[in-house]
Amino acid sequence: MTFVKGMSCRECGRSYPVQAQQVCEWCFGPLEVVYDYEAASREMTPEQIASRPPTLWRYWPLLPAEAEGAIDLGAGYTPLVRADRLAAELGLGELWVKNDGLQPTGSFKDRVVSVALTVARDMGCKVAACASTGNLANSVAAHAALAGMSSIVFVPADVEPAKLRATAVYGGTLVAVEGDYDHVNRLCAELLGDHPDWAVVNVNLRAYYSEGSKTLAFEVAEQLGWAAPDHVVVPIASGSQLTKIHKGFGELAEVGLLAEKPSVRISGAQPKGCSPVATAFAEGSRRIKPVRPSTVAKSLAIGDPADGVYAVDVVRSTGGAIESVTDEEIVEGIRLLARTEGIFTETAGGVTVAVLAKLAAAGVVRSDERVVCYVTGTGVKTVDALGPAAGPTFTIPPSVEAFNRLVET
Ligand SMILES: *Cc1c(COP(=O)(O)O)cnc(C)c1O
Ligand SMILES: [Zn+2]
Repeated sequence: MTFVKGMSCRECGRSYPVQAQQVCEWCFGPLEVVYDYEAASREMTPEQIASRPPTLWRYWPLLPAEAEGAIDLGAGYTPLVRADRLAAELGLGELWVKNDGLQPTGSFKDRVVSVALTVARDMGCKVAACASTGNLANSVAAHAALAGMSSIVFVPADVEPAKLRATAVYGGTLVAVEGDYDHVNRLCAELLGDHPDWAVVNVNLRAYYSEGSKTLAFEVAEQLGWAAPDHVVVPIASGSQLTKIHKGFGELAEVGLLAEKPSVRISGAQPKGCSPVATAFAEGSRRIKPVRPSTVAKSLAIGDPADGVYAVDVVRSTGGAIESVTDEEIVEGIRLLARTEGIFTETAGGVTVAVLAKLAAAGVVRSDERVVCYVTGTGVKTVDALGPAAGPTFTIPPSVEAFNRLVET
């Protein structure tokens, strides 16, 4: 049993029954899962949640599948760590880092995939698929292996080698496409016509897939003692995660876990080499002009983001901002987080930390705010981004004299 009432179109509000469909037949607007909050609230008391296992499935009443029998590698409930040393560097007050680099396959994508593939399996789908910038393919391959489903995942051919290997190891089919993410995504949508039995998690299951990101809000609120932060900084690729973090905080008020509708300011982070959402924000526009990506932050390289316009709306309506940073700033962001907090993030996390620094310097993120920075992936999959400078401080022969010579000079 779930508390899903049905689906509704985000643009025109028309209602639909639960199905593997992502857009409205009338206006092509994206569909959104709707819950019976009144009923869900009876299964969402702090005590009930605390008694459940430490995974994202502890919040099942607000997810579109049952916890019982979920395809669960243990995604969710990652640490929320107080980042005082980073805060001091940036001139901030109460700063927290949500470390989703510690997910089973090293990125927040495990949240959305665990949810989407559980729904897909319950609908009878046998083939798990996705269009990915790298981390999603990694997570789909892993969860499909656990579920005994076959998988076919599509990535741009220039994705980081570590992401290819970490995906291939699970034994599914990995297709590298000569093109960027937007080519990959279009190809998957076309292939779905010939293979209607595929569960392409971010295409025909997108409405369910995206629901998994709400748990990034649920966990932060629980880890803060059922309180909302004042300001969060979130990376943007398609923009889905950012909009769902917003939905998540709102739903906690709906089920009575937050006293009143929280006013969480939501800010977004993009790499300069792929910043169509930041550009629309800066121009005061609701039109996202597609770009061709060129950035070291490959996991954020979506030139034509499906939820870009909704991300802009959320940021504007909550009083946040969207900034972008250069490849050099991204690498500096990775190093800054590592040397102040001992957390090694991937390029997407470098984008978020660098944007946080920029917004703090500009006074947009303030020292009197309780701030959460969402770090969404591990650095071990993008080590090459650090360049040759990240190597041994010294290389010496195995002798005491050789070491002492270093000290003398
Ligand atoms: C996919 C991804 C994102 C962005 O997610 P969207 O929901 O598409 O905006 C952020 N960080 C990492 C590490 C990712 O893999
Ligand atoms: Zn519609």
